[in-house]
Amino acid sequence: EGGSLKNIVSHCKEYGFIYPSSDIYDGLAATYDYGPNGSELKNNIKEYWWQAMVRMHENIVGIDAAIFMHPTTWKASGHVDAFNDPLIDNKDSKKRYRADVLVEEYIAKIEGKIAKEVTKAAKRFGDSFDEAQFVSTNPRVVGYKEKIESIENRLGTALGSGDLADVKALIEELEIADPVSGSKNWTDVRQFNLMFSTEMGSLADGADKIYLRPETAQGIFVNYLNVQKTARMKPPFGIAQIGKAFRNEIIARQFIFRMREFEQMEMQFFVKPGDEMKWYEHWKQKRINWHKALGMKEENYRFHDHINLAHYANAAADIEFNFPMGFKELEGIHSRTDFDLKAHEEHSGKKLQFFDQNTNESYVPYVIETSIGLDRMFLAIMSAAYTEEKLDDGSERTVLKIPPALAPNKVAILPLVNKDGLPEKAEEILNEIRFDFSFQYDAKDAIGRRYRRQDAIGTPYCVTIDHQTLEDNTVTIRERDSMSQERVSVPELIQKLHDKVDM
Ligand code: ATP
Repeated sequence: EGGSLKNIVSHCKEYGFIYPSSDIYDGLAATYDYGPNGSELKNNIKEYWWQAMVRMHENIVGIDAAIFMHPTTWKASGHVDAFNDPLIDNKDSKKRYRADVLVEEYIAKIEGKIAKEVTKAAKRFGDSFDEAQFVSTNPRVVGYKEKIESIENRLGTALGSGDLADVKALIEELEIADPVSGSKNWTDVRQFNLMFSTEMGSLADGADKIYLRPETAQGIFVNYLNVQKTARMKPPFGIAQIGKAFRNEIIARQFIFRMREFEQMEMQFFVKPGDEMKWYEHWKQKRINWHKALGMKEENYRFHDHINLAHYANAAADIEFNFPMGFKELEGIHSRTDFDLKAHEEHSGKKLQFFDQNTNESYVPYVIETSIGLDRMFLAIMSAAYTEEKLDDGSERTVLKIPPALAPNKVAILPLVNKDGLPEKAEEILNEIRFDFSFQYDAKDAIGRRYRRQDAIGTPYCVTIDHQTLEDNTVTIRERDSMSQERVSVPELIQKLHDKVDM
């Protein structure tokens, strides 16, 4: 049994993963604080990503740019003029929505119908069922797919050209109702800029309006030349960064899926113009493999290729994950052309080019971007990991089957009783593993209850120290998912832990 979003939210709070921000003041909308286990898991995700991107590639280096950037950055990037969400209000319920999301939710319902048809047919045809053939030939499914495509096209065109009246017309034609009240009485659609702004310097000096960055990518673009020169890079090469981003999201529901303050892990890969499609495919494949290597069920992932492209892109795809609320974007892979570097050249008056000594020519590199939300990745892991199990003895347990390399604590050290020299022996073992593994020490309550506590926070191994340990230096090691137990010596224990939990 997996978990609903509601179960995951309360589990995250109860076990110190995620709290509402400023909880004692009843929280602040769409902002969250990570607790002791949450911050460990988050750090591990960052490290797993950093290792795969920076350490595994000689031609990718990291930076850590400031959140505040020169205001012209956001003029050049297009965010001041175009980083808008189309808003619509329901006149009866007075609720506010993102118009594009209302349409997307409508599309998701049609996708649900397709999924139902597929399930039905799979049952009917049994082993001989060919899903790909079915969805491309079954008239009902083909009809649904055509409908989706025509809606997506119309929405994309309307948003792309700023034809907000047509977005409203589309919502009316589809007879989309307010999910809360069922009313179809909508206001006009209007644009709302998502950037947070503040002032730098005191007002007396004539303070400048600056923005909190809505994406980390621009910190990479403005440093293109600094990094290329000082790290002596030549295309193809990449710059990676992990950091906070801020967006004044309108609908900020769905827990850490859509936050107003969140973290991104982005990599911009600079290539020779003309090579971009090759690298775009390369990074699509690499990134999906990175996800699948975590072992969280392949069927939880799918690509969604964009038909409607953002102003800066010539190809784009999302990696979608099967969250408790359905398949949604987890990571984006975008071919951003030379849009950003050219725009910054224009606005800064500085050349952002690469001189190719082989051809004696300079060019502005093209860019492939991989961009993943750290918090969304966290939620993906939680959704895949959260399991409610009925055990053979009739009892139940909630266990987080987090990939061991990412688990907040790798091992729990549990003296069977809190006397007879067992705590001292446990301490001795702790000192041997302290520098290699994050751990918990727990000497309270019956051993079964202690196992449950570790299951609930996803600790892959529990190690019990008993009276025999004092005699022969062996311990019992219990594995989280199978709950199987075996007796091993302390050196074997350390080796086992390395084998299982190292990245
Ligand atoms: P969405 O369509 O869901 O709003 P987006 O297309 O605007 O996302 P990008 O601008 O491509 O997202 O950002 C890259 C990644 O950053 C996303 O794939 C997502 O994982 C993450 N992200 C974006 N907005 C948020 C947010 N408000 N909260 C948490 N993560 C976010």
